[in-house]
Amino acid sequence: MREQRPTLLIVDDQPANIHALAKLLKDDYRIITATNAAKALELARREPGPDLILLDILMPDQDGYAICRELKADEAIHAIPVIFVTALDQAQDEAKGLQLGAADYISKPFNPTIVRARVHNQVSLKLKTDLLEQIALQDGLTEIPNRRYFDRKLAQEWNRQSRHQQPLSLLMIDIDHFKPYNDHYGHGAGDDCLRRVAQALQQVPKRAADLVARYGGEEFVALLPETDSIGARQVAGRMQEAIHALALPHAYSPVADRITISIGASVSLAGQPATSSEALKQAADQALYQAKEQGRNRLVWDSPNPS
Ligand SMILES: [Mg+2]
Repeated sequence: MREQRPTLLIVDDQPANIHALAKLLKDDYRIITATNAAKALELARREPGPDLILLDILMPDQDGYAICRELKADEAIHAIPVIFVTALDQAQDEAKGLQLGAADYISKPFNPTIVRARVHNQVSLKLKTDLLEQIALQDGLTEIPNRRYFDRKLAQEWNRQSRHQQPLSLLMIDIDHFKPYNDHYGHGAGDDCLRRVAQALQQVPKRAADLVARYGGEEFVALLPETDSIGARQVAGRMQEAIHALALPHAYSPVADRITISIGASVSLAGQPATSSEALKQAADQALYQAKEQGRNRLVWDSPNPS
């Protein structure tokens, strides 16, 4: 969870300069500092990252322009706004900074009121952007992550597991006979069912890296990094128990007296040549189709003997 105050990263090779800026801003922001490029990039990449970077230009090893270039080239941190703070006051210096993607530029010696105002403006903008991003990645009805978020996470985890040779498991989950539920109990009850199932599913995986998202309609998905088929089978079993325990009556289901789920599972195997994240998704989807074909309310794997 983020601390109340936004975080500023101040980068300057001269501790006295850091001190002067920190003194000016410490009441409104949490301040972290770096006196060289390596430390600056390390702090920028740490979670939760800074909300703004105040960056000196003239530094002995890697200068501020070079640091800015590295920040902007890294997809994970390129959205953190950068303000250059520098004694260079030629228009061409400012132009170069802005062209590299800096949000603003402050010349030394600085005016305290202007520094505070410019920092405040950029941080406000950053926090608004974060909020919009968060809304864009959340499913409005169930308040769990949406498909867009899942697709992004799947791409990230796929790359990571390929590098680290770890298994990655995927569960596709579908509410059984949801259409007759909606038809007979009404859309209000249908929405309520989706919300309760979403919340129950989300509570099952225990690790921070695990993700449960709404994939669309009455379909959900669980992405389980560093999880083999044994671990994924346990998660799937606990999900089925959790939905059973909700005891949402479904008088129009030929499967049970309550809401149940079907699950299709696939795992990418460590040490095997990876195909693609799309193939992993299709395999889970095929398995889900099989689970429905075989009578629903069950878990089916994409292969007979998953490792
Ligand atoms: Mg300097």
